[in-house]
Amino acid sequence: MAKINVLPKNIAELIAAGEVVERPGAVIKELVENSVDAGATKITVEIKRGGILYMSVTDNGCGIARDDVPTAFKRHATSKISTAEDLDAIYTLGFRGEALAAISAVSKTEIITRTKDECDGTLCVVEGGVQTIFEEVGCDVGTIITVRDIFYNTPARMKFLKSDVTEANHIAAIIDRMALSHPEIAFRFIRDGKQVLTTAGDGNLNNAIYSVLGREFASSLITAEDRIDGIGVSGMICKPVYCKQNRNGEFFFLNGRLIRSNTAMAALEQAYKNSAMVGKFPCCVLFIDVPPETVDVNVHPAKTEVRFSDERKIFNAVYYTVKNALTKGDTRPEIKVKPTFNPYTPVFTERAEQTTIPVKVNEQVVTKKVTPPEVTKTLKFESPKFEFPVYKNEVEIKDDTVTENKIEEVKKQVTETVIKPDIRYIGQAFNTYIIAEQDGEIYFIDKHAAHERILYNSLKKNSKVDMQELLVPLTVTLTKEEYSVIINNTETLLSAGFDVEDFGNGTVLLRAVPTLLKDEDLNLLISEIADTLSVTGAVNAERLDDIFHTVSCKAAIKGNKYTTDYELKVLAEKVLGDSEVMYCPHGRPVAFKLTKKELEKHFGRTGSVSV
Ligand code: ADP
Ligand code: MG
Repeated sequence: MAKINVLPKNIAELIAAGEVVERPGAVIKELVENSVDAGATKITVEIKRGGILYMSVTDNGCGIARDDVPTAFKRHATSKISTAEDLDAIYTLGFRGEALAAISAVSKTEIITRTKDECDGTLCVVEGGVQTIFEEVGCDVGTIITVRDIFYNTPARMKFLKSDVTEANHIAAIIDRMALSHPEIAFRFIRDGKQVLTTAGDGNLNNAIYSVLGREFASSLITAEDRIDGIGVSGMICKPVYCKQNRNGEFFFLNGRLIRSNTAMAALEQAYKNSAMVGKFPCCVLFIDVPPETVDVNVHPAKTEVRFSDERKIFNAVYYTVKNALTKGDTRPEIKVKPTFNPYTPVFTERAEQTTIPVKVNEQVVTKKVTPPEVTKTLKFESPKFEFPVYKNEVEIKDDTVTENKIEEVKKQVTETVIKPDIRYIGQAFNTYIIAEQDGEIYFIDKHAAHERILYNSLKKNSKVDMQELLVPLTVTLTKEEYSVIINNTETLLSAGFDVEDFGNGTVLLRAVPTLLKDEDLNLLISEIADTLSVTGAVNAERLDDIFHTVSCKAAIKGNKYTTDYELKVLAEKVLGDSEVMYCPHGRPVAFKLTKKELEKHFGRTGSVSV
């Protein structure tokens, strides 16, 4: 049997260090957390080549007294825990006194630090766990820690590093999270010589969000706030059109601490289903408040993953808060027209002020009033006239002796049900988009998406789907997978309006279909529904939803195909008159608006300019 060796101390330390410091981002996280703990109000992070070559964190915190500097680099050296009672802090905040020791074991680490009680600061360099320099240095109060050549002495770790860009993005994501958890701290992040993030540090979360998530997100915020089952959820979510390609914009805080929670993420994404495009992810900054005893922060403090004693409750709280906020705050996306280059400057159509210029009259200089010529022609924007159709209401007046009152009542009825003076149908473009005007805004409506959404909403609302029995039941032959999916879901299919019967041997008998679809190619339809069902989850309600998607998509009028003006008018009215018709069931917006103001800006008609 092989002899059991106790590992030499330096090897044991390297192994331990590798666990704390897996990649450059972990170093940045530890260093920035230390700066936060030191009470810094300004933290600057600089990295080169994804942090592999160089990382530095500068803060204006309390600094470390000279005598304490060597201790800070020792394992289990921490100023944050001294008694056994403080041990809880290990689990909650990750004070294990391990970070500086680990970082300096696997890199060349330099610290420059001074406390407010000292006149001079301290410079200390530790390379691969060995102190090489320790001397006095002039510096500001605070701490600068520089980490060079990470993993230079642990080539195995080095191999696991990803590309510079990936590591840098990882660091950027960590700083984003830090900046959002601490709006009271001014963060600066310099990546390969370029400043890529600054936050105000004024304590205003909105400002921090604006800096971190960008203007687009900040301008598309919807406030969300609710308390469900004792769980408070509050913060900001983005409008569905601003969803991102990845989950980097999803931020959850639990009792003030930034966390990762699959449950919260799933709830958020579920709430955006049907509003956001498939494959896109919402942005959010949500603060979840729960009684502390219901949370189990994972024992490994480097991980931010948390578990809740009742995940379902958290799911519901996040889901309903977001869903409610989305329904409340929904508005149609707006088209911004970038002003194009205009050769006729200025664009104003009014005459400029009269001015006086000196002119010579009979050798005498006099002043003369002149009026500059009009600089551009007035652009008159004439939209086609359109008479709103007056639909006849089914009101029969048989009795000649009806009283005035009755006539008034009838008139009122007619006006109320028929005239919608604020929606004006303008026309159709590319056989695909309806153009309509309402309240100083022009809407471009995707006719297919709109119709699809309207059908989908009505399918979901009505408990019974209108069914059409087929004169001759249709036998549909399916592939093995399609067949099994269909026969396993006959009940759900029936609720969606499809009467399907197992006919054995890979065939099913279709007896009735939703009336909406009676003219469709039913063979194709059934196999499409089978496809939809086989890719989605097992929950019944969701399956029905998916069938509704397919049905409404199939039955809706198609883009690029001719549709009568009458149908389009009705559609425009339905879309603009119903705030529930915002997105098609796949999450594409149904309509965009162009405001009068935006147009005026484009034509230089803003300000006092009239005509
Ligand atoms: P921990 O943070 O778990 O205490 P670290 O190894 O990260 O352990 O840090 C060790 C000690 O060094 C800290 O407890 C703190 O006293 C000191 N320290 C580290 N970084 C800073 C800093 N930026 N400013 C002031 N003190 C610091
Ligand atoms: Mg620390």
